Amino acid sequence: MATADAAAAGPRRVAVVGGGPAGLMAAEVLSQAGVQVDVYDAMPSVGRKFLLAGKGGLNLTHSEPHDAFAARYGQRRAFIEPMLQAFGAPQLREWARGLGIETFVGTSGRVFPTDMKAAPLLRAWLARLRSAGVRFHMRHRWVGWAGAESNGGQGIGLRFASSSGEVIADAHDAVVLALGGASWSRLGSDGAWVPLLESRGVAVQPLVPSNCGFDVAGWTDFFRTKFAGAPMKNVALAIDAIDGSRFEQQGEFVVTEGGVEGSLVYAASGPVRERIARDGEAIVHIDLLPQRSADFVAAEVARPRGSRSLSTHLKSRLGLDGVKAALLHELLSREEVHDAARLARAIKSLPLRLVRPRPIDEAISSAGGVGADALTDRLMLRALPRVYCAGEMLDWEAPTGGYLLTACFASGVVAGRAAAESVSAERQGP
Ligand SMILES: Cc1cc2nc3c(=O)[nH]c(=O)nc-3n(C[C@H](O)[C@H](O)[C@H](O)COP(=O)(O)OP(=O)(O)OC[C@H]3O[C@@H](n4cnc5c(N)ncnc54)[C@H](O)[C@@H]3O)c2cc1C
Repeated sequence: MATADAAAAGPRRVAVVGGGPAGLMAAEVLSQAGVQVDVYDAMPSVGRKFLLAGKGGLNLTHSEPHDAFAARYGQRRAFIEPMLQAFGAPQLREWARGLGIETFVGTSGRVFPTDMKAAPLLRAWLARLRSAGVRFHMRHRWVGWAGAESNGGQGIGLRFASSSGEVIADAHDAVVLALGGASWSRLGSDGAWVPLLESRGVAVQPLVPSNCGFDVAGWTDFFRTKFAGAPMKNVALAIDAIDGSRFEQQGEFVVTEGGVEGSLVYAASGPVRERIARDGEAIVHIDLLPQRSADFVAAEVARPRGSRSLSTHLKSRLGLDGVKAALLHELLSREEVHDAARLARAIKSLPLRLVRPRPIDEAISSAGGVGADALTDRLMLRALPRVYCAGEMLDWEAPTGGYLLTACFASGVVAGRAAAESVSAERQGP
């Protein structure tokens, strides 16, 4: 067994465990404060999920006004909003500019780097961190505490599994944990940290999928074979959340082999997941023609169709065909399809029963984690003095749109600043 560190003398030292956007941001803030930073990560390189996020166009943040932005964190708004005040969308764009990465606002209000990619930003960022003296310890998987989590100013003991065996790092005056959630585990975030915190008395809410797809009880063979992969464009989705609020949004989603996925479904994933957990299923209502009023649809469906088939009628009167028309046939009985009033109502509010979320590993993000109650307002664990948490491992969720990364960066700033202040206050003495 190697012992990486020895005593608390020398420069102030902070360990950052987890080199995603949250951990790297904490590392940057700490090094700017003159702290010696050691970043540990289980993977051979840092920022792997961040790089993946860049594959489809890196949506760094969103340009909407602060109030609307903060509302995206739903029930966790009060937890996240102070972090956004410390480092929100404008500061994030400014920070990217400081790395030579200009950003632009897309038509949806989302903010992207001009080249849409994550790799140039990460490259520039890592170069800046290295030149500031941040040390990177790759292939170091944090596996537990070494002795007491804190031994009276002697540093916080961390145990790592590395390619050269177990390593103990015990000279850090504070620790920032930024270990991510539990989706896409092959990129490093596997949620294996949960029992390590629970063993020290930290309450952790179970990690569950967020921004994920859902399964239906089962499509017919016909529908699955013909429409898996088909996009449902320009629709609206509504669900009554268990807290009494109602989610209602326009957008698009995709039919999958066993259910539905895509941005509109991801956006509803919190209320859908909670309802399934409580009731065993969630009924979402799909409006196939959100731009048409219920009266208009009812009048068009009721028009005499003569010898024309119902499909031709719906197509010519309402432009309903393809996967949208097929979904009506898939979900309604024959009687309902042939009853004009019921059909019209279903076109505006088609009930779709979702029975389970897709596995967490497939999700864009996860909910659950270390909750606000377990933390001070500066993100220090109440049960573990001088151990801070940041990023997706905190208990919050938000839709896609740049809200995930923004909160990860913001929490990294808050945890990094607090850790820097705690170690400098400690060295200065009373
Ligand atoms: C396909 C996809 C696309 C996305 N696109 C976007 C987007 O466009 N915009 C957006 O806002 N968000 C997006 N996200 C979400 C965003 O990438 C994450 O929310 C964000 O990366 C989380 O940052 P983090 O620093 O908290 O954790 P992570 O980025 O998950 O980093 C955690 C780090 O901790 C390390 N680690 C974990 N356990 C240990 C351990 N025991 N020991 C040592 N190291 C450990 C991991 O190896 C990893 O490097 C996307 C996610 C996915 C999957």
